[in-house]
Amino acid sequence: YVKGRGKNDFQLFTPQMQQEFERKVMIEKQLQTALVNEEIELFYQPIMDLKTNEIVGMESLIRWNNKVLGQVPPDEFISIAEETGVIIPIGHWVLNTAIEQHARWQKTTNQPIYVSINVSVRQLLDPTFLEKLKNAIENNLLDPSQIVLEITESIAMYAESMSEKLAELKKLGISLSMDDFGTGYSSLSYLTKYPLDSLKIDKSFVINMHRNDENKAIIQTITAIAKEFDLKVIAEGVEGQEAHHFLKEIGCDYAQGYHFSPPVPASEFQERWL
Ligand code: C2E
Ligand code: MG
Ligand code: MG
Ligand code: MG
Repeated sequence: YVKGRGKNDFQLFTPQMQQEFERKVMIEKQLQTALVNEEIELFYQPIMDLKTNEIVGMESLIRWNNKVLGQVPPDEFISIAEETGVIIPIGHWVLNTAIEQHARWQKTTNQPIYVSINVSVRQLLDPTFLEKLKNAIENNLLDPSQIVLEITESIAMYAESMSEKLAELKKLGISLSMDDFGTGYSSLSYLTKYPLDSLKIDKSFVINMHRNDENKAIIQTITAIAKEFDLKVIAEGVEGQEAHHFLKEIGCDYAQGYHFSPPVPASEFQERWL
C-alpha cells in the first residue's frame, strides 16, 4: 500500500479487490483504538453436558462494534489483529475480562462451571503470556482448574517451542482444548506431543451433519479419537434436535450451539443460565 497516491494507481485490482483492500485498511485502522473506545465486548455461550442436560461451562466470544464499520465479525478481524499485532493487547483484555467475569459469577452462584477462552497463536508466542495469565488468575483468586484455553492446530507450526510453552501453562493448573479440530493441515502426532484435555469438533461438520453421512462419520471418528486419547470431546454448532440426539447417542461429552443458546451478553447469560 503506497500512501499519498490516488485510486487510479490500483489498476491491477478489480473493483471488488479494491473494496476488500480498503475495508481491510479501515479495519486495521479502527482496531488500533477499539479497546480505548470500549468498542469490544465479550459474549458468552453455554456448554452443555449431553448426559445430564446441564450447563458445564461457557465459551467467551469477542464482539466488536465500531462506529464506522458497525458490527465486525471475529472471523473477519481476528486474523487482521494477528497480522498487525494488536491481538496482544486485545487478547490480554479478553483474558482479564473473561477471568474477572467468571470469578464474579463463581462468588454469586453455586454453579461449578468452567470458562473457555480462545487464545491465538500470536498470544502464546508472546513471552509475557504466562505471566499475564498467572496474574489474572491470582488477582481474581480464581481456581485455575475452571479455566480452559482454546488453541488451534496452527500452533503445530511451532512444534518444539510450543510443547514446552503448553507444558508450562498446564503447570498453572489450567486445561487446554484443541478448537476447530479436524479443519487444520497438521498431522495427528501432536495428540501425543501436546498436553491436551479436550477436542472441539468444528462446527462445519456438525452444522452440515444432516446433508451427508461423511460428516457424521467424521464426527464419530473424532469422538473415537478423543476417547482413545482420554480426552473430553465437545461439539460446536449444534443447531437442532437431530444433531443433539446423534451426538448424545455416539457418546459425545459436551455440546454448544444455537439449539441451546447463541452467544449472549454477560447480563443475559447470568439471567438465563446462572
Ligand atoms: P470458535 O472459537 O470456533 O467459536 C465458535 C463459533 O461458532 C462462534 O462464532 C459462535 O458464535 C459460533 N456458533 C456457536 N454455535 C453455533 C451454531 O449453532 N451455529 C452456527 N452457525 N454458529 C455457532 P464467532 O463468535 O463469530 O467467533 C468466530 C471465531 O472467532 C471463533 O471460532 C474463534 O476462532 C474466534 N474468536 C472469537 N472470540 C475470540 C477471542 O476472544 N480471541 C481469539 N483469539 N479468537 C476469538
Ligand atoms: Mg473456540
Ligand atoms: Mg471452534
Ligand atoms: Mg472456528
